[in-house]
Amino acid sequence: MRVGIGYDVHRLVEGRRLFLGGIEIPHGKGLLGHSDGDVLIHAICDAILGAISEGDIGFHFPDTDESLRGIDSSRILVRVMELVRHKGFRLVNVDAVVAAGEPRIAPYRQAVKERLGSIMGLDPERVGIKGKTTEGLGFAGRGEGIAVYAVALLEEGEGCSA
Ligand code: MG
Repeated sequence: MRVGIGYDVHRLVEGRRLFLGGIEIPHGKGLLGHSDGDVLIHAICDAILGAISEGDIGFHFPDTDESLRGIDSSRILVRVMELVRHKGFRLVNVDAVVAAGEPRIAPYRQAVKERLGSIMGLDPERVGIKGKTTEGLGFAGRGEGIAVYAVALLEEGEGCSA
């Protein structure tokens, strides 16, 4: 078994669409980033990459790569999962905490679990998503950005085909 941890932060700004966990959430602001800014997918990717000792998302998908500008982060997660399979691992489960004063995560939890599960070839019941408002404290609590903490558990072995 291997466990990995991931963390990411993106700034919330006007004039951007909000993508979180591979779905678009209607909101007055979106996450700034070289990609679509999907901070939840990025943290999950880093957790998975950490578990298989493959560096981090910035190494595999540098923000200096113009071909990645505006990329749908779902495509990044698909490529991370290809790496998982290539190295002979299988994803067991992922769990994430989304620290966001806004928007509320709970109404979108099931849609995110299903979307991320389909991208990763994982039962939605193996995808944990929890929202935290942080009681209005800090940059996340003030709605200036969103932070995500994620962990991933993987196993190595025969017949691994996540
Ligand atoms: Mg990021």
